[in-house]
Formats: sequence, structure tokens, C-alpha cells
Amino acid sequence: MIGELSTAADIIRKQREFFQTGKTKDVAFRIAQLKILKQTILENEQAIVQALKADLHKPEFETYATEILVIKEIDYAIKNLKNWVKPKKAAVPIEFLQYSAKIYPEPLGVVLIIGPWNYPFNLITSPLVGAIAAGNCTILKPSELAPHTSSLLAEMIAKYFDPAYITLVAGGVETSQNLLAEKFDHIFFTGGTSVGKIVMEAAAKHLTPVTLELGGKSPCIVDTEINLEQTARRITWGKFINAGQTCIAPDYLLVDKKIKNNLLDAIKKCLKEFYGDNPAKSPDFARIISQKHFDRLANVLKNGEVIIGGEINSEELYIAPTLLDNVSLEDAVMQEEIFGPILPIIEYSDIKDAIALINSRPKPLALYLFTQNKSLQKRVLQETSSGGVCLNDTILQFGVPSLPFGGVNDSGIGSYHGKASFDTFSHRKSVLQNSFLLDINWRYAPYKGKLGFL
Ligand code: NAD
Repeated sequence: MIGELSTAADIIRKQREFFQTGKTKDVAFRIAQLKILKQTILENEQAIVQALKADLHKPEFETYATEILVIKEIDYAIKNLKNWVKPKKAAVPIEFLQYSAKIYPEPLGVVLIIGPWNYPFNLITSPLVGAIAAGNCTILKPSELAPHTSSLLAEMIAKYFDPAYITLVAGGVETSQNLLAEKFDHIFFTGGTSVGKIVMEAAAKHLTPVTLELGGKSPCIVDTEINLEQTARRITWGKFINAGQTCIAPDYLLVDKKIKNNLLDAIKKCLKEFYGDNPAKSPDFARIISQKHFDRLANVLKNGEVIIGGEINSEELYIAPTLLDNVSLEDAVMQEEIFGPILPIIEYSDIKDAIALINSRPKPLALYLFTQNKSLQKRVLQETSSGGVCLNDTILQFGVPSLPFGGVNDSGIGSYHGKASFDTFSHRKSVLQNSFLLDINWRYAPYKGKLGFL
């Protein structure tokens, strides 16, 4: 909630004053702040683990591997920042021979970062790395649905950063809307597609540029030319990590009919290996974030035929890892982003049908393809569009800082991670310089007889 004394407008005004001091333009300052952020995270590792456990029953390993992992982004930015901030020479056409051209990255000013609840720590701090690296002042608005993580983040940020430079505003939809009513220099939003539209509409009133990291249904195609066990393990992990509440989780499987039964048996085996006979007892399986999402998912379970899993426990917000066969494309499970531990399976006899299905739907955030067949890889890459692609694995594309991460169309606008984060939070200022060596007069009036110079 925004306190009575500090309205959104007050906070922004203070941050604008801070930005005007020029402190954030100093690269040494930015690097120092990134180091402080890293130190803060290292000092609070166990508190972060506990907060994520309280919010999502997130296993400690998953918190390290997917939330505290942001430290790698910080290290990457610290290592490369001096290079990123350098003005880059640009080529000039032959007629501009005595000119020089350069592109200067400059900070945007005061930026807003709004986060979701599913990776509530990483998806606030990771864009923050880009905002700091690029030299901005930042307001953070984490999700109210992960209150323990939100409070911890608030404490950490308040303890180590001047609020006129970086501050966190906790609260829900109303708080978010109060912030969105103000003018920012950039808004970075991670969340659902429908809220993304609300954010973009609010930003349009001020002509504020946006980065929208949204969701969607990410397909996972499985061909016959695979290593079956490895494929099953990688899909099972990617789907059921964080109980399926991952924006880039394989949403549904498109499996070659010839391999379907073998693949399903292999995934069932993996589920037993990973979570035991009763995943409700496993320390390695997370819970659904809220009753609302639990009810939504319980409803989805009515679609198709459960071939493993299907157990639910409302009190514990537990939904077992579930495979659904014989679903129809009209079922809710195939219409909306699932965002839970339910994996529907659709078989195909001809890859062209799988491609056509993907292309008949909004462009997904991720696309997964398991095959060693190079020409099939090429074909799927050429004939489909998605935010990103991971061949023969799942999720790990998120962890490579040199790969821009983002969606396309309904799955998002813009990208981040590594240099892409720096670029997202920077303006590329083009600077052209002439010299006084020569002043050829072909462009000056009177123009008579000069058309031939063009
Ligand atoms: P959400 O859109 O409901 O909420 C995200 C944020 O927006 C929260 O901070 C919330 O307080 C705020 N918000 C909600 N309604 C609002 C409104 N009407 N006006 C203004 N602000 C509002 O998303 P969520 O449920 O927290 O997260 C799940 C969604 O996020 C899924 O669709 C998932 O795919 C997507 N997601 C995308 C990525 C990515 O990197 N592309 C990552 C994680 C999650």
C-alpha cells in the first residue's frame, strides 16, 4: 500500500530529483549498487528460502535454482557493464565522409517494475538488475499473492537502498493502478496477458514505453528420434517444477503417435522417481498459490481422462502431478494457459498437423521440440513463431544471459536478461558530428542544377 504521506506522485517526484543529480549516470555508482544487491541477496539466502516456502511451499533447491539464481544476472552485468555503456561507433554513408556517428546508451529516468507471484523474487530482482545497470531510478511493485516474499523484498530494499533511488511499493491491484496512473519513463510488467493489456493502456496515456513479459500456452513437440528417458526427465522436470506455475512450462504435449505410449510410461516412471508414490508427501513438490487458482485447476481436471495423478486437497492447495489424455481442443485445458501441474497430451500422425495447431493459436512464449532430426528442427523453427525455442530440453533457455528472453504478440513485447536488460532500460541516443574541414554547398539554396547530386 502506498502510505498516506507518500502518494505515488510523491515517490516519483523524489526519484526524479534523485535522477536529476546525475548520480546514476556514474558507472562506478551503478556497479556499486549491483554489488550491494548481490550482497543483500547473499546475506538473506535463508530468509528468501523461507519466504518462498511460506508462499508456494517452494522446495529449497528450486528457490536456489530459479530465484536466487538472479545472482548470475548480477555477475554478468557487473562483468560487462563497462563495455555496454561505451558509445558505439556507427557507419556513415560515403557522402558523410567527414562526419562521425555514434550511439550513446543513456538511462531513461524513473522506471516501474511490476511482478507476478510465481517466481516472485526473481521476476522483481532480475529486471531490477537491468534498471540499475542502465542507470535508472526504480519503483518495484511485487505481487500481493506472494506476501512473504513481497515483505522480505520490501525489507531488503529499504535497508540497503535510498528510497529516492530504489523503493518498493507493496499492494495489490489498486496500488498497481495508482502507480500506473502516473507518468514513468518505462514500465516493465510481468504477468498475465489480460493484465498486460491494462498496463499498456495506462502507459499509452503518457506515451510510456512498455516491456510486457506475458504468458500463454507453450507447446512441447515430441518426435520419434529421441532418447526416450532423457526426454521424459526433461519434460517432467520442466512441467512440474514449481507445481507447473511457470510461464515457460511446457503447457501441453504434442506427441508423435508412434511413441506416445512409451513416452507416457517413461513420464509416469519419472514422476515416481522425482516425487515418490505420493507426491503430497514429497518435500520437492510445490503448492498452488491461492484458492482461486486451485479452484480453476480443479475444474480443468474435469477435462479428458486422468492417466496418472488427479488427486487434489483443497486445504493444502495440493494438486498432484497429472497427465491428461483424450482431451478435446475445445476443453478449457486446451483453451487457457494451464499454469499448474496438469499436462494434457495430444497425439499427431503428421508433423504438419502439430505445426498447424500451434499456428492456429496465439504465439506462445516458448516452444519445445524434442528430436535429433535436423531437418525437422529446421522446419519447426521456420514454420512457427514463439518468444523463444529450446530444442531437446525445457526451461533452461531462461538461464542463459546472452539470450534475450521475451514473448511475441500475445506472449509479450520486448525482452530482457543480460545485455537485453541493459538495452530495455536504456535509450539509444544517436549522435552525428560534422567537422569544419569542408563545407560542400550542394544542399544549400539556390537548388538550381543540384538535383544531380542526390
Ligand atoms: P497477473 O497479471 O494477475 O499479476 C501481475 C501483477 O499485476 C501483480 O503485481 C498484480 O498486483 C498486478 N495486477 C493484477 N491485476 C491488475 C490490474 N487489473 N491492474 C493493474 N495491475 C494489476 O499475473 P500473475 O497471476 O501474478 O502471474 C501469472 C501470469 O504471469 C501467467 O500468465 C504467466 O504466464 C505470466 N508470467 C510471465 C512471465 C514471463 O516472463 N513472460 C513470467 C512469469 C509469469
